[in-house]
Amino acid sequence: MRRFSIVRLRPVPLPAPRLPPPNLRFSTSTPRQLMPTSGLTETQLTARDAITQLCSRFPPSYWRARDQTEEDPSDFHAALARDGWLGIALPESLGGAGLGISEATIMMQTIAESGAGMAGAQAVHANVYATQPLARFGTAAQLADTIPGIIKGRWRVCFGVTEPNSGLDTLRLSTVAVKQPDGGYSVTGQKIWITCAQVAAKMILLARTTPLEEITKPSEGLSLFCINLDRAHPGLELRRIKKMGGRAVDANEVFFDGYRIPADALIGAEGQGFKIILHGMNAERCLLAGEALGLGYAALRRAAAYARERRVFGRPIGQNQGVAHPLADAYMALEAARLATYHAARLYDQSSRVEGPGGGVGPDHQVGVACNTAKYLAAEAAFKACERAVLTLGGMGYAVEYDVERYFRECLVPRIAPVSREMILNYIGEKVLELPRSY
Ligand SMILES: Cc1cc2nc3c(=O)[nH]c(=O)nc-3n(C[C@H](O)[C@H](O)[C@H](O)COP(=O)(O)OP(=O)(O)OC[C@H]3O[C@@H](n4cnc5c(N)ncnc54)[C@H](O)[C@@H]3O)c2cc1C
Repeated sequence: MRRFSIVRLRPVPLPAPRLPPPNLRFSTSTPRQLMPTSGLTETQLTARDAITQLCSRFPPSYWRARDQTEEDPSDFHAALARDGWLGIALPESLGGAGLGISEATIMMQTIAESGAGMAGAQAVHANVYATQPLARFGTAAQLADTIPGIIKGRWRVCFGVTEPNSGLDTLRLSTVAVKQPDGGYSVTGQKIWITCAQVAAKMILLARTTPLEEITKPSEGLSLFCINLDRAHPGLELRRIKKMGGRAVDANEVFFDGYRIPADALIGAEGQGFKIILHGMNAERCLLAGEALGLGYAALRRAAAYARERRVFGRPIGQNQGVAHPLADAYMALEAARLATYHAARLYDQSSRVEGPGGGVGPDHQVGVACNTAKYLAAEAAFKACERAVLTLGGMGYAVEYDVERYFRECLVPRIAPVSREMILNYIGEKVLELPRSY
């Protein structure tokens, strides 16, 4: 029986960083992160430094406690809103920072990497990406009514796509929005896994406006709406789902039964919702890739610190190659995924600039391939890093206090959502390798 106390094993703070010479120093934040920052622009470094500082007010102990109590991190959301970060990728004319998905991905990575993990990222995730199709395809009045309030943190946002009966086969979703004589719609159906629905005031909702039997193209007949979530309305019910990780943020079943929404909730043209949402989906893949990377780097940093300190058989465990090599392997996997992620985000930003606001709705093939590839690689790299972190800490990897078990529970999310690894492999097989579709 091993005898040691958790207190004795508490990892010591990481050693004081060795700063590079001033001419090679780009980032003003303490270089505690494992990730090299040499490829980042000045703006991106500034964003990363500022987010790192903000997140230092919400240390891992904050997220550990929230994970246990399942209490929403509303003060963290408010802090980001107060400093203007929720509008990072929204137009300046609406109060945003006018930056791109590259910078937003850096922000999400930095949040996850701070120890906030997926929970911290998911607390603001939909505010950042679900607003992209709205900003791009919404009318001037819609934008003026919604975006500033979202950026200021007055309203939180959730994204309502997944349904229990259609799953990843989004084109077969069955929640209907039926046109009413007054021009508005009546929504009936069920959504599932909707993150932050308990605290959100707005939902970006994908619903069917033309029955499946009446459409000629599978990608048509769905429409996108920005709706208010009026919990006092009898036609709306939320049920929280108990889940494995990221417990600080809620996930929900959402039931609509004759829930009325006004005509001006519609985003873009009726029946074009799926094409419009693809725009936001590529952005979401980049953000999620960034979040996975952040989680992976956080786990690896924890594991390396522990491996340097923990002595067994008279030497640090990290001196054993059986411990060191998997960590080095995990680092390189994260680095490769990082390059793929910021390449994808750059392509996404470039394509947005070419099309311009209100531009074409067709997904750019290259962008889609890059964003899916990035999400896949980052999710796998994060899984590898988090698993190795738990194993490196041995029994302590299983203790809540060391955080890596939390990261490990959370690192499964990027593998599943918003699109599973299997569906990305299907996509690459079909769209890049031109193999026959398997389903
Ligand atoms: C923590 C969390 C938060 C989420 N937040 C949101 C949210 O805010 N909004 C939202 O709309 N959704 C959200 N989701 C839902 C998420 O996007 C879905 O869970 C995901 O898209 C998978 O859908 P599904 O669960 O219905 O899986 P299913 O479609 O039931 O698939 C189950 C399994 O079968 C595999 N599979 C299915 N078809 C094929 C095929 N043809 N070939 C190979 N494999 C296949 C899948 O890869 C998967 O492994 C969230 C999910 C989680 C876990």
